[in-house]
Amino acid sequence: MKNKILQKALKFCDENNHRLTEPRQRVLEIISSSKKPIKAYEILKKLSEVFDNNPKPPTIYRAIDFWHSHNFIHRIESQNAYFPCVENHLHEGSQFMICDECGKVIETHFCDLPDTIKQSTKQKAFIPKKWNLEIKGLCGNCL
Ligand SMILES: [Zn+2]
Ligand SMILES: [Zn+2]
Repeated sequence: MKNKILQKALKFCDENNHRLTEPRQRVLEIISSSKKPIKAYEILKKLSEVFDNNPKPPTIYRAIDFWHSHNFIHRIESQNAYFPCVENHLHEGSQFMICDECGKVIETHFCDLPDTIKQSTKQKAFIPKKWNLEIKGLCGNCL
């Protein structure tokens, strides 16, 4: 239990009566220590290195879903991969800047929708609840 996200996860599970099972813990460890968004099959592969008795894929998918539904991790849709939430709190909007060159993802919060989007959702009588904006480009290191 070295990193911050795991400490928060432990506290969260404790307070909300969720079990921090070993697969859940390992999955979060792997996602939070990955420098780039990580795909489910890569998580499975890494897990096979730490477990003698490999957990079944559905167990792992459920563990991923668990952290996703509780906002500890985000899904980068364009890569079908997972990434730890930098804030690890409930927020409605995220913005991910994804570097084409090195694959780094920078998360910033995007909790207020720009006026142009607000106008168009209003016109359609649509209530926005969550949004992810993925912006591709070059990070400062790769420029
Ligand atoms: Zn986040
Ligand atoms: Zn880069």
